[in-house]
Amino acid sequence: MSKEKRSYSQRRRGGKIFVCHCCRRELPFCWNCPCGFQICPECFTENKWGLSNGPTWVCPDCGRIRMM
Ligand SMILES: [Zn+2]
Ligand SMILES: [Zn+2]
Repeated sequence: MSKEKRSYSQRRRGGKIFVCHCCRRELPFCWNCPCGFQICPECFTENKWGLSNGPTWVCPDCGRIRMM
């Protein structure tokens, strides 16, 4: 029981779960940034005009340029 405390950032059994910052769904994969921003492929596609420019995308939270 006491081991549950810090488990939020740890890997769960069966792999990591991402949470899209746009639609708040839990998914097995999201595009993500070291700052903690996560966006699912669906929302990413919807916002592609504002995020992506070819093989890279820009994190709207911290402005980092990320490789796809
Ligand atoms: Zn989403
Ligand atoms: Zn970021």
